[in-house]
Amino acid sequence: MTNSELQNPVCREWTEKLLTMTKEMRRRDLSLHLGSEQTRNDPPGPMDLADVEEIKHVFGAAGFAGRVYYQAVDYFIRSKVEPFQAILNTWMRGAKAKVNARDVPFTEVITWCQDAGDNQARSELAKEVRSLCAFLAPFSYGSWKALLNVLEQDLGYPEYIAFCEEKRDVSLTGSGSHAQDFLSETRETYRGLVEPWLNTVTGLSLKDASRFDAIYLLGLRYLDHLFPQEISIDGIMSFFCKWGMDLVGNPALHIHSEGIPGRQSYCIPVDIPGEVHVIVGPLQGWLDMESLFHELGHALSFIYTDPALPPEEKDFFQSGALSEAFAFLFQRMCMSREFLQEILGLSAENAQTVSRAHALKLLTLTRRYAAKLVIEVENFRLGRLKKGQSLYSEVMGRETCFYYDPETYLFDLMPDFYSLDYFQAFMGAACLWEYLNDAIGEDWILNPETGSILRRWWHNGNRLDLTAFLQETLGRPLDSGPFIKVNQYDLGS
Ligand SMILES: [Zn+2]
Repeated sequence: MTNSELQNPVCREWTEKLLTMTKEMRRRDLSLHLGSEQTRNDPPGPMDLADVEEIKHVFGAAGFAGRVYYQAVDYFIRSKVEPFQAILNTWMRGAKAKVNARDVPFTEVITWCQDAGDNQARSELAKEVRSLCAFLAPFSYGSWKALLNVLEQDLGYPEYIAFCEEKRDVSLTGSGSHAQDFLSETRETYRGLVEPWLNTVTGLSLKDASRFDAIYLLGLRYLDHLFPQEISIDGIMSFFCKWGMDLVGNPALHIHSEGIPGRQSYCIPVDIPGEVHVIVGPLQGWLDMESLFHELGHALSFIYTDPALPPEEKDFFQSGALSEAFAFLFQRMCMSREFLQEILGLSAENAQTVSRAHALKLLTLTRRYAAKLVIEVENFRLGRLKKGQSLYSEVMGRETCFYYDPETYLFDLMPDFYSLDYFQAFMGAACLWEYLNDAIGEDWILNPETGSILRRWWHNGNRLDLTAFLQETLGRPLDSGPFIKVNQYDLGS
């Protein structure tokens, strides 16, 4: 279908209808995350199978027009799976782990672990979470089953992998083998670094450590005594003036800083580029600042998108990898030695301590998502859901060096192969980093020209996915070379 065909009245009407539905859905997510739940049982407009089929007939399933069809498919699937998800959510909200006679809500386990310096307490928690996951697994399984049934029976996609590959125009098997290569390339380096790190921070050795100890390690709370307490969100916003971006009082950007410290953060682009929300916890330490920068990486890429782009080039995108790459670029930047020293005023020694820990955190996380991708591709290829948990425990244990309970598999499984988006985005952020180093110099963080380059990148919205963006905009492939180079520089220093 050509652009002029996309202009015909039937197409225009469907596109506009889906855009309205998309915005309503995002607004609903926003109120859910902000804690106002009154709209929870009130999904926006209906989308039935006949609508999805008509949209497929009109738009086809390929190229930019195909994005309209997949937006409709996602909407249809969401409406069918939501009742199952709601049951799971209800049970999850009621589930609590008991540690030292105190209740830890299941939904706050990660936040709790990031703060829990007591090894014994984390080990208690691990046992409790195992039982809770075993109890909750049938509900999670029910929700996944509902998704696969809709795909197979309503939409005629018998295989999850084939559906995701078609929707995202990517080879998951190929991506899985890239992830496998990355794991091999970095395995020895990682193993040599993670044990001494864990041991210094917790006194534990890897053979006794679980993923909950890894969460504590990656939370970096034990370095918060080096965090400059005078930093405020407004202060951080004014940093962007260096790049010619006036964010204080920018009408498109809404920052909600509320809830408990370390809460899950979000960026919700209700209307691109006119209304973008960032939800973060209070700014009390490194983890909070990192989350803020991560979400700002998403948010800025949305608010500087060209408003004249059609919805299929800014609102309807089936891969989150490009936006995540901007988010990881910002996240890494704010924890880099240069930023910590030049912008936050840390001493050279303290800046090095924090930035080295963070570089190791990024390597750990990238390996985690690479391993998850390998596991998910293999499990879905073999049609395994619950049965996939033993491969999960085995591969995660081998690649992260931390023990993963098999029972937690379904609760660590994101739909749509989002693990691929994260894995690619970690690689992509390093490609962007290296490009800025080459084009502007190693002081690009302080250089106003960085702002012009970023705005040029963001202007095109989601027209290209990450791989095509790197190729067409920077003339570079998406590969692991820059990631390994950029991170070894910090680790070795
Ligand atoms: Zn993100």
